[in-house]
Amino acid sequence: MTKSNQRKSEILGMPFGTACNKLRRMVIFELLRRHQENVCFKCGKVIPNAEDLTLEHKETWLDGGSSLFWDLNNITFSHKQCNLRKGFVRREIVDGSLWCSNCKQYKPVSCFHREKKQRTDYALLCKDCSNSKRKSVKATGNCNNCGAVRGTQAFRRSHNICMRCHNELVRARYVRARAGKSHQAINS
Ligand SMILES: [Zn+2]
Ligand SMILES: [Zn+2]
Ligand SMILES: [Zn+2]
Repeated sequence: MTKSNQRKSEILGMPFGTACNKLRRMVIFELLRRHQENVCFKCGKVIPNAEDLTLEHKETWLDGGSSLFWDLNNITFSHKQCNLRKGFVRREIVDGSLWCSNCKQYKPVSCFHREKKQRTDYALLCKDCSNSKRKSVKATGNCNNCGAVRGTQAFRRSHNICMRCHNELVRARYVRARAGKSHQAINS
C-alpha cells in the first residue's frame, strides 16, 4: 500500500479500495432510487439500500464473451441474496453479515443465535425475528404423547408436548440417526 493510500485508509477506517467501491455503490443506488429503478430483476421487489444492491448480468457473459460483459443492456440490478445462482441459495456470511430469511435483510452475525446444525453456525432467523416468532407461537394443549395436563409439569412453550416426552423423543431420534449411520457405513 502506498503511503497516501495508507493515510486515506486510516482516515476512512477501511481499505481505500473498499471505500471507493462502497461510494460507487451508494451513488448508483441513489441514482436508481431517484428514478425509482431500485427494483430487483429477480424478485421484482424494491431494493431498500445500497448494501443490498448488486449489479448483475442478465445473461452470463462467461459463455457469450467479453462484449456481453460490457453491454450495458445486459446489466441489471438485484438484491444481494437474489443474485446467487439458481440452486446455489446458500447462506454465506458476507462482510460479517448474514441474511435473515424473515425480515429479508443482512444483519451483523451478532444479531443471530448460534445454531450448530446450520452450515454457517448461525440460525436462519435473526434474534429479533426468532424471539417474536417464539412469542407468537404459544401452544396451550396437553401433551400429545402421554396426555399430561399442561401446567402440572414442564412443557415446551411452542408444542403440545411435555418436556419429558420431548427429551425422550429427541433421544430416540438420536439413537435412530446413529443406527442409520452405522448401517450406511457397513453398506458402503
Ligand atoms: Zn430480489
Ligand atoms: Zn430478522
Ligand atoms: Zn408427555
